[in-house]
Amino acid sequence: MKGFIKGFVTVALLLTIVSCGQKRAKYVFLFIGDGMSFANVSLTEAYQAHVRGEVGMDPLCFTSFPVLGEATTFSADRPITCSSAAGTALSTGFKTRNGMLGVTPDTTDLTSISYKIHDAGYAVGIMSNVQINHATPASFYGHSAKRSDYYSIGQELPKTGFEFFGGGGFIQPNGKGDSAAVSLYNFAEQGGYTIACGIDDFNAKKDSSRILLVQEEGSSKICPYALGRPEGALTLPQIVEAAISVLERNRRGFFMMAEGGLIDWTAHSQDAAGTIMEVLDLDQAVKVAYAFYEKHPDETLIVITADHATGGLALGKRGYSFDLSPVAAIKSATTTDNVEAYMNNETTVSYVNEAAKIGWTTFGHTGDPVPVWAVGVGCEKFAGRQDNTDIPRKICDIMHVEF
Ligand SMILES: [Zn+2]
Repeated sequence: MKGFIKGFVTVALLLTIVSCGQKRAKYVFLFIGDGMSFANVSLTEAYQAHVRGEVGMDPLCFTSFPVLGEATTFSADRPITCSSAAGTALSTGFKTRNGMLGVTPDTTDLTSISYKIHDAGYAVGIMSNVQINHATPASFYGHSAKRSDYYSIGQELPKTGFEFFGGGGFIQPNGKGDSAAVSLYNFAEQGGYTIACGIDDFNAKKDSSRILLVQEEGSSKICPYALGRPEGALTLPQIVEAAISVLERNRRGFFMMAEGGLIDWTAHSQDAAGTIMEVLDLDQAVKVAYAFYEKHPDETLIVITADHATGGLALGKRGYSFDLSPVAAIKSATTTDNVEAYMNNETTVSYVNEAAKIGWTTFGHTGDPVPVWAVGVGCEKFAGRQDNTDIPRKICDIMHVEF
């Protein structure tokens, strides 16, 4: 009898361990900070402490997550990736050459996990604060040997049947200078998508089965930068919130990819103030997901990573100090009216870096590994060292979707 009880306890324990290991994430959020290096995030944390009058680093919502890992990002042909090759790695689990999107180096189509997850009965949402046919969001639904084939990539969007797309607009909605070409907005509508322009319009149309949320019909613009953002502009946190309300209607669950695309753009300009504001904006979007996680902690996974690092930022360039007062001064002096003058002025931007003693090595990308943070079901799988191609495989595994 004793042996029987012992055996029973052992089997019960084993079953518990196995079933814990196989727990399914019903709701998965993948946030990609485009160009977001460890240093870009640390600068933001140091800025938060600075505005409180302290020396230190105040954690963000996502940097407080229990799991931290890193991912290597090299592409199939370069030690330093571009966004389309990195996006392809993160969406399909395969490396490709810089400049290619959703295809192998010999241009055979790859399958993004968005399609695999959608086929498994989940709702899918793809969103960004740059244009929806820009490299990172496009990697999750498009295929092209050239990432700049915006028109043909945009034509793929309605064919996906994914429940939600959101972003600034389409780049080249009528193709390359051909105003007679059918607009990508018309393609989306003919493909069964309801187009919502801004949050108020979204709220009026949110019962539609498939939604494309942009700022304004016909637009080819990005969502405005966080620094000096005009009142009422569409933001990434709003897009994520809108996406949740559409996707959570699906009973099987959902997958969403949300890109903070402007971190890359501000870091390309070596603009410290702009980069910090964009990282904070991504953190606000993560907070929206985290509030959802708190309601469904046993069924939700949130992963934050980057496609590559941009700018080669370092906190310090001489001596044992950096001082974020010039950055804070720019933040408080910037308004919607003067922000463009600041952002387009290389002299002011480099003056701020010089005065703050912040170093940048390049106006391009770097080959540093990028951070990975995670919380929720299966989050432990993202700890330690991994390659960017491992991330979609892990997500499928945790969602019980065949990769
Ligand atoms: Zn870039």
